Amino acid sequence: MLQKTSHFMRQANFIDGAWVKADSGQTIDVVNPANGQTIGTVPRAGTAETRRAIEAADVAFRSWKRTSADHRAKLLRKLHDAIMDNQDALAELLVMEQGKSLAEAKGEVGMSAAYILWYAEEGRRVYGDVVPSPWADRRILVTKEPVGVIGAITPWNFPSSMLARKLGPALASGCTAVAKPASQTPYSGLAWGVLCEEAGFPKGVVNIVTGAASEIGDELCENPLVRKITFTGSTEVGKTLIKKTAGTVKKVSMELGGNAPFIVFDDADIDRAVEGAIAAKYRNSGQTCVCTNRFFVQAGIYDTFVEKLSAAAEKLKVGSGLEEGTQQGPLIDEKAIEKVEELIADATSKGAKVTAGGARHPLGGSFFQPTVISNATPDMRFMQEEIFGPVAPVFRFETEEEAINLANDTVFGLACYFYTGDLGRAFRVMEGLKYGLVGVNEGIITTVEAPFGGLKESGLGKEGGHQGIEDYLDTKYVCIGGLGL
Ligand code: ADP
Repeated sequence: MLQKTSHFMRQANFIDGAWVKADSGQTIDVVNPANGQTIGTVPRAGTAETRRAIEAADVAFRSWKRTSADHRAKLLRKLHDAIMDNQDALAELLVMEQGKSLAEAKGEVGMSAAYILWYAEEGRRVYGDVVPSPWADRRILVTKEPVGVIGAITPWNFPSSMLARKLGPALASGCTAVAKPASQTPYSGLAWGVLCEEAGFPKGVVNIVTGAASEIGDELCENPLVRKITFTGSTEVGKTLIKKTAGTVKKVSMELGGNAPFIVFDDADIDRAVEGAIAAKYRNSGQTCVCTNRFFVQAGIYDTFVEKLSAAAEKLKVGSGLEEGTQQGPLIDEKAIEKVEELIADATSKGAKVTAGGARHPLGGSFFQPTVISNATPDMRFMQEEIFGPVAPVFRFETEEEAINLANDTVFGLACYFYTGDLGRAFRVMEGLKYGLVGVNEGIITTVEAPFGGLKESGLGKEGGHQGIEDYLDTKYVCIGGLGL
């Protein structure tokens, strides 16, 4: 059913099928980053509310796990349809709290629906094994069962689709969930409660709690009823959560920070590389964990690439996400702007040159100009630190080996991209890069059909693809003996 944006903007938490306030009555303000105005509040829940949500999810799990995969798939299809029927309203809500352009927000909501549909289908293909037995009178079965209650903690940069990637496989496999969206963008998270309610999921199957991150996080990590934590966010918080889950030995999936390299070789199609670079750098104002952090360009084409990238960056239309034609919205907050300014100042003090943008946008607030920086060198902070903003530092290299070494010189290993016209080089470089996602002559590669996930300090586990449901399943070995065969 078609609903208005206001229908999804819930200023309450969703616990055990009811919309409730925080016990303390306290709230958190939600601000529109495009104009700094408060658009509403959400409950500032803590330990007690989280515990109740976990207990509701545990009760719901006892019957939800016994439903058939087909039944769950039907509800997930309804959820998919509810999202697509309301794509515009959900996208508008997302823009209001997050800032991205309406076109990108619609894309994200569409992606959320696609994840739900994908897992509606995958849930019906959770196969076990019948293994040839070494004993004549015994049989070996290997079954897959839902892990139980899961805790999902998500960030502000993709407030809708990051929950889709977690709720989709959780619900399809028979798990129940307690989700905590980021405090900057809680409405797109709470909207999942509205959508699940309307699709007909039983009470307690999905619970959404907003509020004090460490209180909610600690309860999710330490409560023995929760069997898995799935987190998308910074590496720093991810490490804390891994430590906290150790006490009850939970399964964990971690989608953490990135430091994506984008390598352009002399033999690449430069225009294609520039087009890919714009998409891989400035999408969501550079605020994605797969956004390019470092461009490495071979000496022979370096000047041409910098010139073309700078010209293309300057053409991007910056504005409020709801304005027609906007390609880059504001950054999430003032802190994000300050970090970008610091990184640019560090680079220019070490010899880098600003060839496009380089400063706050005349629109004010947290708008920043799409920026390109040439003469980047490995001693600059963005060689190791995630920028999370619309700044493209371009480093120069001479040889293939040097490019691979520079690209791998980081603790992160999420996404990487490279452009070449040489097939042999494509394989050598692909095999040389220690990253979980590789784009060859492509700057945007995420899709529901493929496993998304990082290596090294970028994380553990995969989301998407058929692999994405594995983390929500326990494998059980059953030996049936005394068969008298
Ligand atoms: P970002 O830099 O993208 O804001 P964070 O890792 O700080 O990334 O936040 C991602 C999510 O983790 C958000 O929902 C945030 O509220 C939550 N979070 C932050 N600190 C903690 C914590 N100590 N325990 C649990 N969750 C946390």
